[in-house]
Amino acid sequence: MPGIHSPEALREHFRLTPSEKAWREDASGVPLGITEHYLSLIDGQDPTDPLRRQVVPTAGENITLPYEESDPQAEEGHSVTPRLVHRYTNRAAFLVTDICPMYCRHCFRRRFTGNLAGPACSDEIARAADYVGSHPEIREVLFTGGDPLTLDNSALKSVFEAFRSRRADLIIRLCTRYPVSDPDRIDDALCAMVASFSTAPVFVLTQFNHPRELCLQSRRALDRLHRFGLQVFNQTVLLRGVNDDSAVLAELFENLLGCYVKPYYLFQCDLVAGTGTFRVPLCRGMEIYRELSTKVSGLALPVYAIDLPGGRGKVNLGTAVISPAGEGFVDILTPEGARVRYPDK
Ligand code: SF4
Repeated sequence: MPGIHSPEALREHFRLTPSEKAWREDASGVPLGITEHYLSLIDGQDPTDPLRRQVVPTAGENITLPYEESDPQAEEGHSVTPRLVHRYTNRAAFLVTDICPMYCRHCFRRRFTGNLAGPACSDEIARAADYVGSHPEIREVLFTGGDPLTLDNSALKSVFEAFRSRRADLIIRLCTRYPVSDPDRIDDALCAMVASFSTAPVFVLTQFNHPRELCLQSRRALDRLHRFGLQVFNQTVLLRGVNDDSAVLAELFENLLGCYVKPYYLFQCDLVAGTGTFRVPLCRGMEIYRELSTKVSGLALPVYAIDLPGGRGKVNLGTAVISPAGEGFVDILTPEGARVRYPDK
């Protein structure tokens, strides 16, 4: 597989900074993987390049802060079959595979992603689909991982068939970063196959984090999805040194909208072990969001949201009640009225 998949190849391609050199591969982290396409977008001469920061590991990944966890969304505790997470009443996440073509250093699902267990087997697919079939309160299922598009079209079709055959009314979200990492994977055959399961909406959820990721090939992939009637939503992660600037975000969201992609969420980076160097302090994030909201239209403005630790769900930071709690922490009031302490650093 072309691209970079080993520390040796990384050293050959980049002149590494001391922090990049000091990174140690660690079983609890995500593996190293950069696609050839994404590599071509990185400015190799610039150690602070925002695209490089997303895929080249640094020593910061080997540090776990006291308030970080391997599974802050408590997915393991909400797993109802080996690959199905049922955390919210009306939706569930099916972890199609733990493999990605490229590994984002800020990945929130690092407890699972890159374990190299591979795609769900037919028994795991059937058990998850049976569960969804017998739980009509589940209205939406996310096909996620890992990246489901690492499966070939026929294997991915089997996953769609398993769920569709039990629930023609199920809304499916296909979560993939391929439009960013390897956009040529989004070809006519794939789009036609996915669109053929549209007895109920099938949405594509992707993750563009920087305007430079929206290159010609990516635009072509997004255009193709649009032509096949597949609506695309984008979920950006707010990342220090990548997009913690309202002008950068405004350019990204306006350009996405021009590609028929609705900017859906801007996520505060989760409290996942080893991601401290990416986190933008919460109050600074809210300042950036306020600036952003004066720059773009309502249509181009995503919801700025946080996933509360312990699997306590999402809070919209645009409307949340937040109060200082001292020593670099704030209290966030949940919609249910609970106070959750959260770092602002
Ligand atoms: S593509 Fe998604 S699952 Fe894969 S490493 Fe990136 S954030 Fe994690």
